[in-house]
Amino acid sequence: MDWLLVVLKHNLIFTALVSLGILLPDLCLGHLCKILTCTIPITTLLGVIPFAFILSLVRNRWFLGIVLGLIAFTQIIQVNHWAYFGAPIHSQDISKVFFELDEIAQTGSSLAHILWPVWLTLCASSTLILIGPLYIKRRKQLPYAWIIVVLALSVTPVLSYIKGPSFFYTKPTYSTIYNTVRAFSDWIVRSKYETKNFGYKPYNITHSNQKIKNVVLIMGESLSSRYMHLYGYKESNTPFLDSLKSNPNFSSAKGISSSVSTRTCLQTFFNIYHNPGFLELIRKKDANLFRLAKHQGYKTFVLSAQNEKLFHDTGTEFVDTFASEKDMHDALTTKGDEALLDKLSTLELSDKNFIVIHLRHIHTPFGGYAQHHPELAKPINQNNRASQTQQEYSNAIAYHDHWVKQCITTIQKVLPTDTIILFTSDHGQLLGERGLFGHNQMQPEVADVPVWTFTIKANPQVISPFKNQPISHYDLAKYIANLFGTTITNPNENHTFQYVHGSEMYTNYEFMPWKKVNGKPVFLKNQWVGEKTNP
Ligand SMILES: [Zn+2]
Repeated sequence: MDWLLVVLKHNLIFTALVSLGILLPDLCLGHLCKILTCTIPITTLLGVIPFAFILSLVRNRWFLGIVLGLIAFTQIIQVNHWAYFGAPIHSQDISKVFFELDEIAQTGSSLAHILWPVWLTLCASSTLILIGPLYIKRRKQLPYAWIIVVLALSVTPVLSYIKGPSFFYTKPTYSTIYNTVRAFSDWIVRSKYETKNFGYKPYNITHSNQKIKNVVLIMGESLSSRYMHLYGYKESNTPFLDSLKSNPNFSSAKGISSSVSTRTCLQTFFNIYHNPGFLELIRKKDANLFRLAKHQGYKTFVLSAQNEKLFHDTGTEFVDTFASEKDMHDALTTKGDEALLDKLSTLELSDKNFIVIHLRHIHTPFGGYAQHHPELAKPINQNNRASQTQQEYSNAIAYHDHWVKQCITTIQKVLPTDTIILFTSDHGQLLGERGLFGHNQMQPEVADVPVWTFTIKANPQVISPFKNQPISHYDLAKYIANLFGTTITNPNENHTFQYVHGSEMYTNYEFMPWKKVNGKPVFLKNQWVGEKTNP
């Protein structure tokens, strides 16, 4: 046995270094600092150590470099996600990492004071993972060891293909590498899935006269109603909206968003999307709100303080004037979202107008909005991350309330009669509930959004949409179509259930079914499109 140890001494050092590198985030950030909820189950040790040993036998250094590089890279994504959101990354969110790098860098740098141990650990972990092959050259090597590595790496993708998506539910109490391997395997396999045809029938769409000439939809960002004083939050952060409560032209309701991510919310909202997996509707855009508005003779506008790529598949081909972040960059940088109102004042309006104002506040970092109106920001007590984030979020809502006041004043000037303003947010936000932060997670709190309307010298026959609370984005979008004079009948509608859709529509995604019970939403177990029969 001794001769074997001598022969394999360098392989064992290699194995120890790589294994320690892979498990370091769990040891430091899980066991020691408690930043992550992960543990190291024995099954992870039984997987990681033999795998690292087989790697130590691989001869081709290029192959070895690529495999170890991939392990380090995917773990960096996983650990950063977990530390920020409080949960492991979902396969549906992996593509977003590559598309939203600028947003991630901005949010990450604002949390550097919290995330520095994470980054320090990841530097150490990557060094350990990569140092093995570079400096341990005298290890025992076998010509075909790479085949075993390839076979081992294929196991989870193959299992995912056979067992289906529930195999990949994230497990926040398992190790980081366990969640990384499964999420990335699922991501690779699922991106090759063809979305199925579920036999949905086309909507029945009929047109008559419009109910109102000017429809202004304000699409907020990451705003949850439960942190607004208007909806009962303890801090007085919505004095202007509170003052509208007694105004007969104002009404408000609890809302349920159609998705947990910005892009998917915009796609589902503007296409009046309801049934999970009905992608045909988005491809054909039969019920697209911009299209319906154009059909009914409205001039259509989008003023967005965010990146235009978020409007992919929202029907921008039916928008007459589209201005996004890049068109208003300097003004948005200096004035924040008040720049949108300057732009609104300069629009060449028609007799009938459908205007969408898409906000950037209250996106993370929440504290950033104080620079535009420092007088609105209350001092922050630094106790713990959840409390501090909630205070910053509440301050951002105070900024929002101030913005709404300016916005209504501007619209009253620009469109003084026959106008309705409708407000909702794309999705809500988690602020430490069950240790979770951010959005993009399939949790009921992320679907919690406000909905309110304000009319300006409008026909009182414009019916309030709020008779049957809570109001979903789907209800609201159908109501907007109705204001244009368009009635939508969806033969696939289930009268009991509605859905909050996952963050990536073009795959067999996860969704949350819910129903209204005594004016409150009741969420059922999450499901996957195509996995089971829909409720
Ligand atoms: Zn958003």
